[in-house]
Amino acid sequence: MIIKNAEINGKIKDIFLDKGRIAKIDKNIFGDNYYDAKGNALIPGLHDHHIHLNSTAAAINSVICGPPDVSNENELIKRINQPGKGWIRGIGYHHSVAGEIDRRWLDKNGPRRPVRIQHRSGRLWILNSLALNIVGNNIDSNGRLFDDDNSIRFGSEFPNLKPLMKLLFSYGVTGVTEVTPSNGVEEYQNYIDKIKPLKIDIMGKSDLNSTKSQYLKIHYHEPDLPSLEIITNEIKLAHKNGRNIAAHCVTRSELMLILAALDEAGAVNGDRIEHAAITDSFLINWIKRLNLIVVTQPNFMAERVGSYIKDVEEFEQKNLWRLKSFINSGVRLAAGSDAPFGNSNPWFAMESAVNRPAGFEDESLSPEEALSLYLKPSYNAGGVAREVKEGEIADLCLLNMPWSDARLKLNDIRPRGTWIDGRLVFNRIN
Ligand SMILES: [Zn+2]
Repeated sequence: MIIKNAEINGKIKDIFLDKGRIAKIDKNIFGDNYYDAKGNALIPGLHDHHIHLNSTAAAINSVICGPPDVSNENELIKRINQPGKGWIRGIGYHHSVAGEIDRRWLDKNGPRRPVRIQHRSGRLWILNSLALNIVGNNIDSNGRLFDDDNSIRFGSEFPNLKPLMKLLFSYGVTGVTEVTPSNGVEEYQNYIDKIKPLKIDIMGKSDLNSTKSQYLKIHYHEPDLPSLEIITNEIKLAHKNGRNIAAHCVTRSELMLILAALDEAGAVNGDRIEHAAITDSFLINWIKRLNLIVVTQPNFMAERVGSYIKDVEEFEQKNLWRLKSFINSGVRLAAGSDAPFGNSNPWFAMESAVNRPAGFEDESLSPEEALSLYLKPSYNAGGVAREVKEGEIADLCLLNMPWSDARLKLNDIRPRGTWIDGRLVFNRIN
């Protein structure tokens, strides 16, 4: 295929795709099978370096139960009592909506259907009596199930990934890193079978070997943090098995514990910190000294600023979701959505990285820096940003404007076309 009149690094060129690669970039390449880019910017396909695919796919069929869509009890009651049959699956709940709701609250205010509502942390499900009955859980419980995702997989069917893939292609995403800690052999196989042509790296549990999965996901939360020794041994074993680690670190203590364990075990090139939501210069320097990669979510600053200002101690607020400081310190940085907990649109996240909320502007990035967080290669979030050049794999995204316009309104970007291995996988009709 030939893409004609594409803006590549500021110049209008034609581009010839052959055998899944960019075979040639030049002026005036002719052929029958061509796509007119009409002067819009052509960039490498984006890679979402941190996403939970199954739960995002399930979320597409879910009811939003938290801010900003739902902000009080009445709105929540209206949402969950919508017409229909079968399960109501709610997501994104936060206690600011209606407090610590439980089984009784749902029975009183919800529909006569099985209801399960997930807290936006992803760690708590709240079920009504009908739902508890179906999942065989103790009916006398208050219906609040913490960290119990496996026992409540609700039928253990994997969700249909097709609508989500279509959505990702429409954003220009051509690759993802699936980071769910509970990924095992079954999940791995399901993704491999169902996700093509989307490119995927899969993190997961210790029972995935290094050829299947480069990364062991380490996922501990305050206040249930294990000892330094336990984590150190886990890291050592992963490294011995030829795997890297990717450690979930949202709070200061979570991060400090992982860094101390990496000091003990020895960090290996490729080891990742997921989120690094709170870092001061001491922690940034420690991350740099260990040569770790940080995978951040610029979208959260925009999505959650209201509750950060309320819930995070004032002295710590300047340390939230830093971006520029990592880059300035030479820490290798990439980004992912953390969907379904964050917005899966990378352009929204880039906009959030460039235009941070008032009081948080110090960490803002340029549009080019923000974009580069999504151009890091798959399997190497710490690598050099991919480019559109001859010989590269033809994973491409055609924007709906030239880059000089796009960089000023990232939120208005609606890609016109997306290619994977030289094949058009998304084509915007209007
Ligand atoms: Zn995550």
